[in-house]
Amino acid sequence: MSYFRPAIDELTGYVPGEQPAAGKFIKLNTNENPYPCSSAVARAIEGALRGGLARYPDATATAFRHRAAELHGVEPEWIMCGNGSDELLTILVRAFVGEGQLIRLPHPSYVLYKTLARIQGARGEEVAFNSDWSLPAAFAKGDKNLRLVFLPNPNSPSGTMVTPEAVRELAEQLPCPLVVDEAYADFAESHCAGLPRDCDNVLVTRTLSKSYGLAGLRFGYLIAHPRLIAGLMKVKDSYNCDTLSIAAATAAIDDQQWLAETRRKILDTRARMTDALRKLGFEAVDSQANFVWNTQPEFELPRIYQGLKEQRILVRYMNYPRWGDGLRISVGTDSQIDACLGVIKGLI
Ligand code: PMP
Repeated sequence: MSYFRPAIDELTGYVPGEQPAAGKFIKLNTNENPYPCSSAVARAIEGALRGGLARYPDATATAFRHRAAELHGVEPEWIMCGNGSDELLTILVRAFVGEGQLIRLPHPSYVLYKTLARIQGARGEEVAFNSDWSLPAAFAKGDKNLRLVFLPNPNSPSGTMVTPEAVRELAEQLPCPLVVDEAYADFAESHCAGLPRDCDNVLVTRTLSKSYGLAGLRFGYLIAHPRLIAGLMKVKDSYNCDTLSIAAATAAIDDQQWLAETRRKILDTRARMTDALRKLGFEAVDSQANFVWNTQPEFELPRIYQGLKEQRILVRYMNYPRWGDGLRISVGTDSQIDACLGVIKGLI
């Protein structure tokens, strides 16, 4: 006999990328930032610590919401914070989707969406991208059970984007909320952060894990119409972000110069590694994110993944049903990428 709901018994849990002990591997598997975060972050954490941790944190992360609101040209009521953007995705599913109802997501994309649907006892409907990574018309189709649509933009693993115009058209056709997951938007040419003002069914999620180099901090935020934020606030834990992370995230988002400089370095390395991977024979997709998706039916990709791991370099091997396999390689520093390319060259 099991104590669990059938939905949990039937679930294969989401498996995150490997996180080996610090310093042992060149980590190019979970799209972290290879550069240390803004020095303002440590100062902010020290300052918050001096204030002590005896009190509960600010339940709505007011300081952060004011800064994020300024950055995006909205009022603070349009922002809600989360313990990483993954927590916000969980809150969205709990708030909008009931048992037996439908969540739509593109395929292949971020695997967690489907796991969240299953935990909720909902169905995840995967709609395959077109071969050029654009969305088919079926993605915008109405359905009486449809309650939520996820669109990672840029997408993972491909690093490709749907244009803001296409996202707007999609939002206008859908009968339910559309979550534009912009975890990687700081590395892209465009974004949809302004769209919630025009389309009240659009919610945009952001994270400090990637572009701000703070995956270990766990901080994300969401931009949406205050009516939606008010409903979502009822679902979140009261103190979902802690005193130290709120202080750190506020300092990080304040240092836009650090972000611009780091972004530049990552985009330069991304261009260089895409070229080099193509010269090695991979079909490397042009990326708008901080990783590059590489396929090549003639290469034995699991062997390359394993060979890299033996040389203490971690990348992500993905094999998607009905789509195929590939290596997703995060953009590291130039020397990390050179080491990775050198080992791959020896393996093919
Ligand atoms: N969305 C996408 C598309 C991602 O790849 C990730 C990182 N795994 C996240 C959201 C979650 O990021 P975090 O919880 O660190 O904010």
